[in-house]
Amino acid sequence: MIRLTVDGRTLSVAPGTRLLEAVRAAGVELPVLCEREGLAPEGGCRLCAVAVEGAPRPVPACATPCADGMRVVTTGDDVAAARRTVVAMLLADHPVPCRPPGDARGTCELEALAERLEVPLPPPGTAPAETNGVDRSHPAMRVRLAACVECGRCIRACGDVQGHHVIAWHEMGRDRHLAFSGRPLLGESECVACGQCVAECPTGALGPEADLASPAEAAVDTVCPYCGVGCGITCHVAGGRVRQVTTSLERPANRGRLCVKGRFGLDYDTAADRLTVPLVRREGVPGPCGPHGFREAGWDEALDLVAERLKDIAERHGGAAVGGLGSAKCTNEDNYLFQKWLRGALGSNNVDHCARLCHSPSVVALARMLGSGAATNPNTDFRIADAVFLIGTNTLETHPVIATFVREGHANGSRLVVADPRRVGLAREADLHLQQRPGSDTWLVHGIAREVLEQGLADTAFIADRTEGFEAYRDGLLALDMDAVERVTGVGRAALAQAARILGTAGSVLTGWGMGITQHVAGSLNCAAVGALALLTGNLGRPGAGLNPLRGQSNVQGASDMGVLPGVFPGYQPVADAGVRDKFATAWGRPLSDVPGLTVVEMMRAARDGGVKGMHVMGENPAVSDPDLAHVHEALEALEFLAVQDVFFTETCAFADVILPAASVLERAGSVTNTERRVQAVRPVLPPPGRARADGAILVDLMARAGMPGGDPDPAPVMAEMAALTPTYAGMDAERLGEDGLVWPCPAPDHPGTPVLHQGGAIRGKAAFLPPKVLPPAETESADYPYLLTTGRTLDHYQTGTLSRRSRVLSTLTPAAWAEVHPDTLREVGAADGAWLLLESPRGEVRVRARASEGALPGVVFVPFHFAETAINRLVHDTLDPEAKIPEYKCSAVRVRAD
Ligand code: SF4
Repeated sequence: MIRLTVDGRTLSVAPGTRLLEAVRAAGVELPVLCEREGLAPEGGCRLCAVAVEGAPRPVPACATPCADGMRVVTTGDDVAAARRTVVAMLLADHPVPCRPPGDARGTCELEALAERLEVPLPPPGTAPAETNGVDRSHPAMRVRLAACVECGRCIRACGDVQGHHVIAWHEMGRDRHLAFSGRPLLGESECVACGQCVAECPTGALGPEADLASPAEAAVDTVCPYCGVGCGITCHVAGGRVRQVTTSLERPANRGRLCVKGRFGLDYDTAADRLTVPLVRREGVPGPCGPHGFREAGWDEALDLVAERLKDIAERHGGAAVGGLGSAKCTNEDNYLFQKWLRGALGSNNVDHCARLCHSPSVVALARMLGSGAATNPNTDFRIADAVFLIGTNTLETHPVIATFVREGHANGSRLVVADPRRVGLAREADLHLQQRPGSDTWLVHGIAREVLEQGLADTAFIADRTEGFEAYRDGLLALDMDAVERVTGVGRAALAQAARILGTAGSVLTGWGMGITQHVAGSLNCAAVGALALLTGNLGRPGAGLNPLRGQSNVQGASDMGVLPGVFPGYQPVADAGVRDKFATAWGRPLSDVPGLTVVEMMRAARDGGVKGMHVMGENPAVSDPDLAHVHEALEALEFLAVQDVFFTETCAFADVILPAASVLERAGSVTNTERRVQAVRPVLPPPGRARADGAILVDLMARAGMPGGDPDPAPVMAEMAALTPTYAGMDAERLGEDGLVWPCPAPDHPGTPVLHQGGAIRGKAAFLPPKVLPPAETESADYPYLLTTGRTLDHYQTGTLSRRSRVLSTLTPAAWAEVHPDTLREVGAADGAWLLLESPRGEVRVRARASEGALPGVVFVPFHFAETAINRLVHDTLDPEAKIPEYKCSAVRVRAD
């Protein structure tokens, strides 16, 4: 320990402690502008200067390390005068007030310091004319350089925290000012609008573009409704709208970071076309129709219709004639009640949701190998792993805050290997990018594993102690034809060997993956290959070492946990298990089917064939999200009855008989479970519009109408009922979630939760290697369809755009779809960058503009799937992974023509 005195008080601090921290520990709060927790110290503003005995002049406390025997004085006329001089100089050309009165960040820190140090503020309006004016070139943020105090916090926030490095100093000396990608206007830069600079700016130099004229009436802590990172947010509400979103370092999933969607994309909630009253299809209106095809109805009429029609179908044809899609946008409590409604009141296990379309292969593979299909480690472990392996994930756009943790670890020396057919954002920064051909992931991962074996890098002690089935796996790897691996993947042996060296020699490896490897007929095999590579290198059950399938939507983990899956009750308890079934049947007072139901795509096929006749879709949009859309639309039209429950009139609503207006997740209480298994409370930020109601209340009313007591619809009693029946959630209740939430398994009320899974051994006992298998894509290039289509997400939008495309900021930043194509391929089809292309598959055609990219593989076309007017899923085939039943979104053969 280091001993020093601060204003005569003796302290002991750990080596490496900065003087500012020691001074704070002594109870002295120094003025400071350029320093902030979470940012590297800079020592630029010199407001925290203190006198150190023996030093020729005061030193900045924020940037000076403590030393043994230091004698520090924080007060004194000289020091105080120097601080006042600095503040007065900064105020000389500072516009007052520089932040709008409603800014949730409060008063400008410089103005607050001036008050504290008794430096007079210039009268409002007396600041010199703002030569640069206010830059409003960006849809989310505005820049007012006159208010800049050159603290550099925005530069460190943009570069060190988020890793974007868009903001930097331009010019030197008195002319020094901020520039954005070297340009004067923010809107012309490569800014991705994460807003970290706004969060860190101490003045009004950087601020939200939104009007902040009136102070917030409420600040509500909740969880971002978009992706599975599950960032904790605080919504500042005024005039019935979310005016600003902030977060804090204390929120465990995101530690003070957000992306553009969470920071600026919540304005969708008050979009003008919210569903606010129940709608019933007008008599005699056939086929898909817009809102004009419906008439307003009362809740009683709408609920009676839904309950009567679905119950009638179930009674006439059996429960299996009814199906339901739950929602990863809704809370755990809503999803628990949804499967209870389908199973208990309608007698059907045909209940599924979009997890089928993203991570069902991860669940199949990991559950078999480890005993649990969920991510093993916290989000923040991506910054402590010695190496990170990302495969099939464009993390920078799909899970942006996790990408910041990856970048932070990489900046601190971790190694990064990215495997993806596109040169996605993090691939450009990685130590190694493996650019495998779509559909060749199993070959690629087994090829790396074979190199691990051959280089003697297998963790033999881990394998012996913690695994089983290694011999068959090893023999399969040794039988692998490595020439075929090179040929199929397009990745050379040297690169495979390099990946093996990085992953086989790191002390800890955290592997993350996304839909790039799951959305294949070989999805489960791909995930098993990734899992086996982790076992082979001993990377499981430790901080920084594990397997994290990066879950998509905000509550896709929770909707799965709640049993919105055809074969399992909540907590993955099989419907075919008599003991489990009896437990739920007793609790619900209803007999329950022991026959596992149909998955998403199987339900649509059954609807087209007449096997499924009635459906209830809650918060999903299969008319855009499912593969082979022409057939999906036929299926929806063929239904005898369709009820859709949602917040907006989605493309699926066009096929409905009854539409039930739901409160959004910003408008009610409950819980959601993020990708790291953290169950967090969501709280009502706004009131539901019109007569919209919480999903849980709607479902309980439907159950009552179908003759089944649904219980109390409030989230707390629903969670209590669910926890009593679900061992992994048994220790949770609404009160316990608090601010940080709880990470399952949490089996008892005094259990602290389990941030790292499989510590000391896999949940199933020994972790199981599966013999290495490969399976080619169901569809490959042919003479008629010579190119490959692959689909995915983009930073500014989410799923079918139901929410994100109604956000002003998000839809301004990315208004339309595009096709990413290699310039060679564009030349081949005779089209230029920006030209219209016609993409055709045996199932349909789509017109989309070309975007040339050297990062694409020649012959492979990428199109994002958020845009209904460019519904790329028209072209995608619906061949399924035989086990996980996920369709192969990532590999369809297409023709490409200049249009
Ligand atoms: Fe965080 Fe995801 Fe929301 Fe972005 S979209 S703020 S990464 S939860």
